[in-house]
Amino acid sequence: MKEFKRSSNAYKKAVDLMPGGVNSPVRAFTSVEMDPIFMEKGSGSKLYDVDGNEYIDYVLSFGPLILGHADEKVTESLKQVTANGTSFGAPTEIENQLAELVKERVPSIEMLRMVNSGTEATMSALRVARGYTGRDKILKFEGNYHGHGDSLLIKAGSGVATLGLPDSPGVPESIAQNTITVPYNDLESVRYVFEEFGDDLAAVIIEPVSGNMGVVPPNEGFLQDLRQLTDDNGTVLIFDEVMTGFRVGYHSAQGHFGVTPDMTCLGKVIGGGLPVGAYGGKREIMERVAPVGDIYQAGTLSGNPLAMTAGYETISAMTKDAYATINRKVDRLIEGYQQAAEKHGVPLTVNRAGSMVGFFFADEPVTNFETANQSDLAMFTRYFQGMVQEGIYLPPSQFEGLFLSVKHSDEDIEKTIEAAEKVFSTIK
Ligand code: PLP
Repeated sequence: MKEFKRSSNAYKKAVDLMPGGVNSPVRAFTSVEMDPIFMEKGSGSKLYDVDGNEYIDYVLSFGPLILGHADEKVTESLKQVTANGTSFGAPTEIENQLAELVKERVPSIEMLRMVNSGTEATMSALRVARGYTGRDKILKFEGNYHGHGDSLLIKAGSGVATLGLPDSPGVPESIAQNTITVPYNDLESVRYVFEEFGDDLAAVIIEPVSGNMGVVPPNEGFLQDLRQLTDDNGTVLIFDEVMTGFRVGYHSAQGHFGVTPDMTCLGKVIGGGLPVGAYGGKREIMERVAPVGDIYQAGTLSGNPLAMTAGYETISAMTKDAYATINRKVDRLIEGYQQAAEKHGVPLTVNRAGSMVGFFFADEPVTNFETANQSDLAMFTRYFQGMVQEGIYLPPSQFEGLFLSVKHSDEDIEKTIEAAEKVFSTIK
């Protein structure tokens, strides 16, 4: 059995200092009935905790580290940039470089604005969509998580789902009533909302692959139908690609599915592990943002050289070959899991988009929040705890997806499959 002595001591201190001992709720391990593990360092596909235990990491800081931990090029560039100062409150050339690279890979983004988190990106995109259309209502999908802005913290996924908190106190009713929610992949409900409220809908915001109720891809044609309905009604279609951006593929989810939104939100991978978000889209819409336009949005540290450098180096390293390499590893991981589950009679449903993977302990297909909720959460807890003992670090919730990096080796994948097989033999 692994020892967590130093981790336990750190946690005892932390609970007195921060709510739940953490700075973001899912990290608290509440739903997997364990104390959180305090980490000391990461290298490639591996994480090391403060007690010296080693793990193969499938959390990757909840997505950003597609190059793995402490990538040499990223850390070297950061050292050089840091020596010249960390933030100037003035524009820098590296902001142009990252912006150009993002535009090149995601051509629907004609102009963009850097911010400091995914939450800021979605909050700002909504404000711009509302200002641009002169409308207030938005449509979002149950189990999609778009950060913790008031308008979007309604029937949200991720930690909100993990903790079973459908709506948060503190979100004024007057704000909540402008957010309409319907089940993911449910076109009929979307059509109904457009019939009732089409003229009032400023935006439809969607995770083009949902990664916050576990991984749930869109049904065939769903995104195309949303594109059509939003076009017909003068509603802004926002793809929240904070998780899927530069993760699902070279051209992000919109390239993968061939659907062009009006606006896109980014985060995670575009910061390469530093705090970054971005929102962008059609020039006509983005030119409404201050100082060219009248819609206000700003940030003291937005576009700072450290974050821009980490993002630029990360995306530059993600060639088409790099995506193909990760995808092959994902293929093998899924194959191994399916064989292990079959051998031990464990119900397993697998959803996947690029290097985002959702393993659900469920017999039926998982296509929305309701079906995701039918998975066996108690079995997930036993699985999670067993895998920690085997040195595999997974997202601590059935409602979070696994991520792979370019640094995950064939050996890592085989070890993970062996661990899963061992754990599957005990969790039924
Ligand atoms: N949007 C999506 C799809 C996300 O997955 C997340 C975070 O997990 C966010 C927005 C919020 O990003 P951040 O945590 O950087 O504020």
